[in-house]
Amino acid sequence: MAASKVALVTGAGSGIGRAAALALAKDGYSVGLLGRTKDELDAVVDQIQNDGRQAIALLADVSVEKQMAAAMSELIERFGRLDVVVANAGINGVWAPIEDLTPAEWDQTMSVNLRGTYLTIHNAVPHMKSDGGSIVIVSSINGTRTFTSPGATAYSVTKAGQLAMAQQLALELARHGIRVNAVCPGAIDTEINDNTHIRSKEETAIPAEWPQGNIPISKGEAGTSEDVADLIVFLAGTKSRHITGTPVWIDGGQGLL
Ligand code: NAD
Repeated sequence: MAASKVALVTGAGSGIGRAAALALAKDGYSVGLLGRTKDELDAVVDQIQNDGRQAIALLADVSVEKQMAAAMSELIERFGRLDVVVANAGINGVWAPIEDLTPAEWDQTMSVNLRGTYLTIHNAVPHMKSDGGSIVIVSSINGTRTFTSPGATAYSVTKAGQLAMAQQLALELARHGIRVNAVCPGAIDTEINDNTHIRSKEETAIPAEWPQGNIPISKGEAGTSEDVADLIVFLAGTKSRHITGTPVWIDGGQGLL
């Protein structure tokens, strides 16, 4: 149990973020749930409070500097400290052949996934330096291990960038007792897959369906948000105290193929 410790989860209204917020609350953390959709966040906050834990909804777009600074102030005002950050908010964005991907589409994926992760950690670190803590970045197998998603260039670049951030910051922040790790999910059954905009052209062989491919451990069945949340709780807590700067794959072996 992590009595009186505080966690911040971005993109906490759905999918992996929602599951991570619930699992961290169950483990004893007070949780700040950051996202753009008030109704979704409020529903998770209610669920946590009904279980006798503390939670607060923080309305912000991770890519907007002022909103992120304000959300962090609100969190600190409410709970007075910060121990764990889960930088999870992300979009698949547009998957398209490189010659069709517009600069605006490229920028949008960079903005949410990379700038958003930067702004989350940038605002969090000043509040974590005194007592140390753990930062978990939700990257993807697309960041390193498998590139079986044609058209996902912008997304994959952001996910690889997040892994670079985890390693760089693990070194930079070690002297403050702050660990930084990344989880790299394979196909997980969440809404992100419904929100992927795949612009297919016959000649590029971009698959009409996604996720595709095999997942050895589960006969092709996608993982769940709860599978990833359990790993996030482990990386957040002291049982992983000697792990930092590490990408941890959670993909049922998908990336091995
Ligand atoms: P999801 O769509 O359910 O969750 C993403 C969350 O981020 C949503 O709540 C969304 O509202 C929020 N969000 C998006 N843009 C935001 C912004 N600008 N500001 C604040 N919040 C924003 O999907 P998910 O699968 O739970 O995705 C969570 C993370 O997991 C993402 O970073 C994604 O890249 C990563 N991931 C997912 C899979 C998968 O198969 N589902 C695989 C690998 C990695």
